[in-house]
Amino acid sequence: MALASIAQAENIAVHAGWLFDSENGRLLEKRTVHIVDGRVEAVERGFTQRQGERVIDLSGFSVLPGLMDMHTHLSYEFGPRTYSEAFTWNPADYTLRAVNTAERTLMAGFTTVRDLGDSDNVTISLRNAIKRGDVVGPRVFTAGKSIATTGGHADPSNGYRQDLMGSPGPAEGVVNGVASARQAVRQRYKDGADLIKITATGGVLSVAKSGQNPQFMQDEVEAIVATAKDYGFTVAVHAHGKEGMERAIRAGVDSVEHGTYMDDETMEMMIDHGTWYVPTMLAGDWVTQKSAVDGFFPDMVRTKAAKIGPLIRDTFNRAHKKGVKIAFGTDTGVSRHGENAKEFALMVEGGMSPADAIRSATWNAAQLLNAQDELGSIAPGKHADLVGVIGNPLEDITTLERVRFVMKGGTVYKQPE
Ligand SMILES: [Zn+2]
Repeated sequence: MALASIAQAENIAVHAGWLFDSENGRLLEKRTVHIVDGRVEAVERGFTQRQGERVIDLSGFSVLPGLMDMHTHLSYEFGPRTYSEAFTWNPADYTLRAVNTAERTLMAGFTTVRDLGDSDNVTISLRNAIKRGDVVGPRVFTAGKSIATTGGHADPSNGYRQDLMGSPGPAEGVVNGVASARQAVRQRYKDGADLIKITATGGVLSVAKSGQNPQFMQDEVEAIVATAKDYGFTVAVHAHGKEGMERAIRAGVDSVEHGTYMDDETMEMMIDHGTWYVPTMLAGDWVTQKSAVDGFFPDMVRTKAAKIGPLIRDTFNRAHKKGVKIAFGTDTGVSRHGENAKEFALMVEGGMSPADAIRSATWNAAQLLNAQDELGSIAPGKHADLVGVIGNPLEDITTLERVRFVMKGGTVYKQPE
């Protein structure tokens, strides 16, 4: 299992009992996916085999495009010790954790993720190691360190002794004013990030009073977006409160993460601007559950955590009804790595059809990444990223929590026993 060099240049025919067509949201019966050099060459009706092809028999399976989670943190896995790790962990410790979480993510069927915030550019190195084949993991599109303002949600020195933490600046992702906002984006280009993440409002897990105040001025978020465009970056925005969210949407960001307090007006703005919504209900549910445990969170965090789960569920329900574009994201790293697929059931409970929930993690996610030519469906020319489950995911969405077959780029990483 799990050696990236195996079978790389092999020609493969995957016999799929049912194949999920993510463009149209339906299951097609009996299809063969022909794979050459890690890419899909053709999809044919029935079970066929060409000369020189190895057949992978998934005739008893539903086969879907590799799942894509648009909001993860591979170098974190949240727990009561997280707040002290800032003092006791070195970059190598975070890196080794990320090696472990990356493998768990891939084995759960997530062949592509966005990483929306690390420290010390750990996930940039992780992405490169996965590409080289040194580490087993998903395709990673990473923002590197999130950009915040002083005291903001991703200011890494919040709540700690000043003499120990110093005063972080643009390189560490803390900006004030237009010039340092530009500098922080350019630094990420230099570092090798794939996109930009900013924290436009307060957040639940930072040691700060408000979880929803705006934390960038209009000119600062505009400077971020304009600079990001120069480098071909998309911009993902952590936001709970309405005002900070709307400033970011107005500035032209690509996705709003969490989006807790969006109202009708915010949703209309998102529809007008074509802004994606990435709900992360799983993280909301998880922190609300943990807020019941004494000592799990600092008091300041506990109060915010207790409220967030039901609020995000309600927001998802309203945004979906209203017709806001939704891409799948979990904020995993708050909840446990490898459990990303639990978000699907929350989406279906929130009123989305199973087919649309799967599309949000395939077809839609590829659009958000500007990678629709390479990812998001099982179609000629695209990467051969395939997962297999037993049963019909359109009848039981939780089948996606039990992925039995994983292929990324034509290499098999997990097969049914
Ligand atoms: Zn996050």
